[in-house]
Amino acid sequence: MSFRALALWRSGYAEDCKSLHPGSIPGGASSFFLMIYKAGQAAIYSPFNNLQAPNVLSFALIATCGNYALSIRAIGEINMQHNYKLVLLTSIALSLIGNAGFARDGMEKHHKAEAKAESHDRTAAPHWSYNGHDGPENWGTLSPAYGACASGTQQSPIDLMAARLAPLPAISINWKGFVPTVVNNGHTIQVNSDKKGTMVLDGKTYTLLQFHFHHNSEHTVNGRHYPLEAHFVHQAEDGSLGVLGVFFKEGQANPALQKIWNIAPLDPGQMKAKKKFKPGALLPRDRGYFRYEGSLTTPPCSEVVSWAVFDQPLEASRAQIDAFAGLYADNYRPVQNTNRRFILHTQ
Ligand SMILES: [Zn+2]
Repeated sequence: MSFRALALWRSGYAEDCKSLHPGSIPGGASSFFLMIYKAGQAAIYSPFNNLQAPNVLSFALIATCGNYALSIRAIGEINMQHNYKLVLLTSIALSLIGNAGFARDGMEKHHKAEAKAESHDRTAAPHWSYNGHDGPENWGTLSPAYGACASGTQQSPIDLMAARLAPLPAISINWKGFVPTVVNNGHTIQVNSDKKGTMVLDGKTYTLLQFHFHHNSEHTVNGRHYPLEAHFVHQAEDGSLGVLGVFFKEGQANPALQKIWNIAPLDPGQMKAKKKFKPGALLPRDRGYFRYEGSLTTPPCSEVVSWAVFDQPLEASRAQIDAFAGLYADNYRPVQNTNRRFILHTQ
C-alpha cells in the first residue's frame, strides 16, 4: 500500500525568522538527510527528477531560517510496508534537530544559500507569503510600497468571465531557444531568459524576461481554477509589462515542462541548464486569448501589466502537478474585483 503524504513540521518558528529570506535551507538538513539515505538504504529522490519512481520515499525539504528554528516540509510517496519506520524515524529526528536549533554551520550555509538565491525580493522589501498574517489578504498593509495590493482598482488575477468578443489581432511571439537559468526564489520556480525573445501586443514590443508557475492557476475561467498556470513576463522599453498566461490541465506528461522540473532546485537557489530550451514549446497551438489591463499578482501589485491569457490549456501529468505542489502548494493570489474593466476575448 502506498499513499501520498504531505507533512509539515514547524519547530519553534521564531519571530526573527520572518525577516529572513523565506525558504532558505540550512545545508545541514540536506546532509543529515543524505546520512539517513545512506544508513537506511531507502531510495530518497527528488520528486522533480524521478516522477515515475514507484514505491519509494520521495521527499522535498524546505527549511526556513534561523538560529533557533528550522521548518521542514516533507512530501512524498511512501511505501508503507517497507518504509514507514524510516519515515517515522526521519520525521522525529528532523523535528528534534529543528527544536535543538540546528547549529551554526547550518546558519552559515543558510547565508550562502541566501546570497546565491536570485530573488526579486532579496532587497529590504518586507516578507510576504501566500497564507497567514503576511498572506494575500494583508499584503497591502505589510508595507507602504505594497499599498496597491489593497487600494488598487485594476488588480490581478481576475475571473475571466463575461468577456466581450472582439477582433483582437494575433499576438506576435518571437521567442528563440536559450540556455535558461532555473531559479527557486522562495515563491515559485522561475526560468530566467537571455532577454532576446520578444512579443508584440497591441502594437507594442516587449522583451521576455522570465517565466514562472503558479499552483493553482491564478486566473480562473468562469470561476474554475486550472491546476497550473505559467506566466511569461515581458517588459517594454517604457518599463511597462506584458504578461502571457498559459493554463495547464491534468493529462499527458508535458515534456517541455519536464525539462524545467528536472533541474528546478528544491531549495532556494538556481541552476543553469546545460542545453537550450525552447519556450515556444509551452505555448498552446490555438492562440485564442483573453485580454485585460491589470497588475502584478505579487507585492507590490503594481498596475502596470497588460495581460493576455490563452484560452486553450496545455496538459501536464498528475505527477508533474504534484511535483510542483510539493514545493509550492498554494502560490496563487485569489481573484480580485474586475471593477469597471472590460475583459476582451478573441472572436
Ligand atoms: Zn505569476
